[in-house]
Amino acid sequence: MSERTDERLERAFDKRTATALGKLGLTTVGDLLGHYPRRYADPGALTDIAALEVGEHVTILARVEQATVRAMRNRKGALMEVVVTDGSSRLSLTFFGKHRGSLYNHEKRLVPGAKGLFTGTVGLYRGTRQLTHPDFTLMGEESDLDSDEALLEHATKPIPIYPAAAGIPSWKVQGALRVVLDTLADADVPDPVPDEVRERQGLPGRAAALRSLHRPATLEEAYRARHRMRFEEAFVLQAALAQRRARTAAEDATARPPLPAGQTGILADFDASLPFTLTDGQREVGEEIADELARPRPMHRLLQGEVGSGKTVVALRAMLQVVDAGGQAALLAPTEVLAAQHARTLRTLLGPLADAGTLFGAGRTGTSTQVALLTGSLGAKARKEALLRAASGEAGIVVGTHALLSEQVQFADLGLVVVDEQHRFGVEQRDALRAKGRVSPHLLVMTATPIPRTVAMTVFGDLETSSLTQVPAGRAGITTVAVPAGNVRWTDRTWARVREEVDAGRRAYVVCARIHPDEEPAPGSGAGSGSSAGRTGRAAARDFDDVPEFLDPGDPGGPGGPGTAGAADRPPLRAVLEVAEELRGRPELAGIEIGVLHGQLPADQKDAAMAAFASGETPVLVSTTVVEVGVDVPEATAMVIFDADRFGISQLHQLRGRVGRGSDPGLCLLVSDAEPGTPAHARLEAMTQTTDGFKLANLDLELRSEGDVLGAAQSGRASSLRLLRVVKDAGLIEEARTAAADVVAASPDLTEFPELAAAIRAQLDEDQEEFLERT
Ligand code: ADP
Ligand code: MG
Repeated sequence: MSERTDERLERAFDKRTATALGKLGLTTVGDLLGHYPRRYADPGALTDIAALEVGEHVTILARVEQATVRAMRNRKGALMEVVVTDGSSRLSLTFFGKHRGSLYNHEKRLVPGAKGLFTGTVGLYRGTRQLTHPDFTLMGEESDLDSDEALLEHATKPIPIYPAAAGIPSWKVQGALRVVLDTLADADVPDPVPDEVRERQGLPGRAAALRSLHRPATLEEAYRARHRMRFEEAFVLQAALAQRRARTAAEDATARPPLPAGQTGILADFDASLPFTLTDGQREVGEEIADELARPRPMHRLLQGEVGSGKTVVALRAMLQVVDAGGQAALLAPTEVLAAQHARTLRTLLGPLADAGTLFGAGRTGTSTQVALLTGSLGAKARKEALLRAASGEAGIVVGTHALLSEQVQFADLGLVVVDEQHRFGVEQRDALRAKGRVSPHLLVMTATPIPRTVAMTVFGDLETSSLTQVPAGRAGITTVAVPAGNVRWTDRTWARVREEVDAGRRAYVVCARIHPDEEPAPGSGAGSGSSAGRTGRAAARDFDDVPEFLDPGDPGGPGGPGTAGAADRPPLRAVLEVAEELRGRPELAGIEIGVLHGQLPADQKDAAMAAFASGETPVLVSTTVVEVGVDVPEATAMVIFDADRFGISQLHQLRGRVGRGSDPGLCLLVSDAEPGTPAHARLEAMTQTTDGFKLANLDLELRSEGDVLGAAQSGRASSLRLLRVVKDAGLIEEARTAAADVVAASPDLTEFPELAAAIRAQLDEDQEEFLERT
């Protein structure tokens, strides 16, 4: 950054303006220049008032229709009521004054016919939408920051509308930017996009783009500028990823080749004991991975696959190859439930192959190993033992949660890191674990659900990708039905169906969005904050046991967002403890044991609850989304999801993936009171129509807002994207990726492109800061 853009706003402006801008999180001139308009108002067209939502902070262009001032009836003071219109709908503005005289100024200005911008939070008073004490600026008027030129702009040019806050309306931001832009030289804003790339893409320079973005003469100009800034974001990100790829490719790793044919090892024994044959996809991806592990360069691979496609077996086989070659493997899981399950599955699948130590007393022999489990809630003794086994190399496979990232965890010879269900982890966590190898270990990352290509390219752009698209043959499929909440006939039928499944020896999950009836939806989390930062914040802070991945705060379905005001009359979310009690009293379920599982239970009780469910002791399990990812009980055939409209598509897809994993058909009942025509209803519709994860992922992207897509992808890196839309900008991302790869190939350390190198550094610092804040 240049001296100019580093300049503090206190220096560039008077104290009041600087403080006001500070409320928007802006501290330097560079920050201000990077505060892009959310949209542009056409000075010739008024804002559609009917579309405004209660609870929303808005900036609207409207015309005053009438204004009245009267004394207050019950207390001292005067009330001014102004009705503004867009030509068809109306919105009322109210102002209070100590006495009539104190409203004199407003009275003089807000006369019928006056046109201007009004900003405030939309409230509801006696059924009428209104703004209370809105800030406003009128066309044809001078204000402190607006120059003569501003009047002209208001009259003819697009009006930038900025994300604003109380006390700092959009036009103040605009005014401040005008001051900066008036004296901004091209040299003040170094351009990370090299000239030749810019010219080839036909993009304006950075300074010109900033001018057009903040002060466009036409909408086209603004959009061209926005396109350029999007390209820049994609380009800087892709250049950083290209550098990362290049760096990894140059790193040394220990080659872990498969044992020569004929020599028995754990992998060969395991394959021989496998109760099923691998799918074609599993075999192909397996070979790809086996080849890469055999090279002295670290593998860096993303395995994405349909829910239930059998990623665990693929990962386990890779781990066993490494163990056979004398190394260790670590498996990182997002929740304690999943880590414990993985450890259990691995031990079961391995059988006697995981008996080392118990049979032989000390150390790993050539043909068996140990699986150690390391989670945050382990007792001191168990923890010490697991640490010892990892450090001594006795445990060939160490399974754990975030606890694996802790500094105390050491390995004798870490050869492979597998990250399961990656969407819960960030790049930094991957690195923290990789750093535990003497040389770089190989890395295999697995996503929970299929993800569209450009999301993969943006969020996992430093990894090579393999996909598992088929699920093993012999699965009977899942039927999904949307069930209206509160309908007695449907409710009775639901539990009768659950009874039928249980009577046939099968199991049912019942999923609720929260634990206690009198508690917030997502315990101990910032759920509903909706920002990707809030979401990723949770990634680092704790295991993900009960966190429903809630939706865009703009979505009336999401809690805590602006929609909440209007949704006050919604029935409260169903809670695990309450539903479990209710089910124990339902005649349909008489005699059936009901289990309970949620993240607030101690680890041993979670384990016990999962085990009792798996064994059939409690064939109905009422749970939070703690069962969302990866949980594998083949006998489970039914799932009832309460408040299903509160969950995102990928989460529903994940949840649903818990049933129909055996040869019996699955049934998924989505209980909700979502109204037809709402996005929430559209999501449920989609769920009933397909079980194809790729289709659902694309649809999800269409229905979601962008920030949410990245939030769902749970990447610290992607959270820094501002204008780029991973879905709509797919073409642009591809172009940026190619261009960035060329540039990095030409100058791997970017010495020839210092501006780009600086932009990447700044970006990394920002990510780093965010990461530190989260941990
Ligand atoms: P995911 O890809 O969602 O993580 P899992 O690895 O948990 O899926 O596998 C889902 C289920 O399918 C498990 O019970 C697993 O044992 C089983 N499975 C995996 N591969 C096969 C196969 N080739 N044939 C039959 N069942 C398989
Ligand atoms: Mg899995």
